[in-house]
Amino acid sequence: MIFYLASGNAHKAAELQVMAAASGLPIEVRSARVLGGMPPVVEDTGTFAGNARKKAEALRSLVPAGAWVLADDSGVCVDALDGGPGVESAYYAGPQNDPAANLAKLVAVMQGVAAERRGAEFYCVLLLITPEGESHAFSGRCRGSLLASPRGGAGFGYDPLFVPEGFTCSYAELGDELKARLSHRALAWRALASWVRAHAFSG
Ligand code: IMP
Repeated sequence: MIFYLASGNAHKAAELQVMAAASGLPIEVRSARVLGGMPPVVEDTGTFAGNARKKAEALRSLVPAGAWVLADDSGVCVDALDGGPGVESAYYAGPQNDPAANLAKLVAVMQGVAAERRGAEFYCVLLLITPEGESHAFSGRCRGSLLASPRGGAGFGYDPLFVPEGFTCSYAELGDELKARLSHRALAWRALASWVRAHAFSG
């Protein structure tokens, strides 16, 4: 099974490719790049699921017949910011979708906020469209807290600021392998893989 990923984010593609390989299912995740790139999508639905659907539908017209389409919409939801930046995570510092500027803004906004008020979670919706055009959504969340300043060099986006519950290292310090097992995206993938196992693949 080939899943075309409706994203231009090479990090997301890499993480999902690792998860697909680890799930033991015959799924190959291919980046939208192999189809000439992800068509532009205005992420204006106000929900992770709605934005994931828009991305998936935008790519769907480009995939070969019989292919599956996968979209990921995700973000960091901070308790002290009433769940923000949340669905706006990619555009937190402006429409240019600049990960370094987004991270710097979150560091600045959270400056001086006490440790007990730094709770946050990452949330991910994976939206899968079958070759027949049915869509199925799967979600995952990972609770944790925000550091005062970024730590670690792996991963992407807000990874250096986020420490998952039960750990002392940031997502960016945990390394790709551990993140691929416990992250919001990993939990959404696990739900998706269970569905695929039960409905689309019988051995
Ligand atoms: P999207 O690509 O439109 O879903 O935007 C996702 C936003 O949330 C981007 O700013 C990403 O950097 C951020 N984000 C999503 N997942 C992760 C993650 O696993 N680590 C760090 N940042 C993430």
